[in-house]
Amino acid sequence: MILIAREVQRANRSIGFVPTMGALHEGHLSLMREARAQCDTLVVSIFVNPTQFGPAEDFTKYPRDLDGDAALLTGESVDYLFAPTAGDIYRSEFSTYVTVDGLSEQLEGASRQGHFRGVATVVAILLNIVRPDVAFFGQKDAQQAAVLKRMVRDLAFDTKVVVLPIVREESGLALSSRNAFLTDEQKRAATVLHRGLSQASRAYNDGERSAERLVGIVSAAIASEPLARVDYISLNDAEDFQPLVQVEERPALLSVAVYIGKTRLIDNMVMGVTEKQDAAAV
Ligand code: AMP
Repeated sequence: MILIAREVQRANRSIGFVPTMGALHEGHLSLMREARAQCDTLVVSIFVNPTQFGPAEDFTKYPRDLDGDAALLTGESVDYLFAPTAGDIYRSEFSTYVTVDGLSEQLEGASRQGHFRGVATVVAILLNIVRPDVAFFGQKDAQQAAVLKRMVRDLAFDTKVVVLPIVREESGLALSSRNAFLTDEQKRAATVLHRGLSQASRAYNDGERSAERLVGIVSAAIASEPLARVDYISLNDAEDFQPLVQVEERPALLSVAVYIGKTRLIDNMVMGVTEKQDAAAV
């Protein structure tokens, strides 16, 4: 893979990279299409990264369908699919990790200890293998994108990070590989995440700036759904992820993590901008 990247670079062709954990859906494909539009060569990786899952999380159950994914990718003019094994990435006596202090400790980092250490480490390895000019991430995982932007800047990776908007079902439900775990009834229940965020966004547009009240709107919406159990609802600065009391000048991100049955779903919305502008704000 390193050889391919060097050859492509020698030929003066730019490399676009979309890292994924597979079980591909339209959200992943939207990243690939943009990468295709911006770069000459498109590399996609599929790797369910063990180090970003906690011991009680769903690593072994995480949906995997490499054959189905590979078939889907043939329709997306992907030049290289990189699907390493855990042993390819974490060689014996592996002992080097990347931690991004501060913004990693909020939200997903607080709920999922060690999660961003695993994410930053694997993305650092993947960037060093693939050597992309541009790497594409989804705003669905807004905090992840912010952590990776910071890592790329701090460690001087020669890669530009692009963040693209959340792709949703018509119901508003954000596409996620984990949606495969949901029954039809749970899927209907899961639309409450987007509904709550949209209600808060309307309140923001009507002038509401208080974190407590914006969070309260989402909380009330989610409380009305008996199948939903809140992990967190939080308003944070969209760049450094510090919790906010009040939305001020800088873009703020309203984020939710909610269990529907045993499945943990996340969603978010930037306050005060349209969904299209959303991804550019984080
Ligand atoms: P994953 O396979 O879940 O690790 O996701 C791989 C990439 O796809 C990450 O950058 C995600 O943020 C992005 N992604 C996942 N779901 C969506 C979605 N619904 N819309 C846009 N991007 C997404």
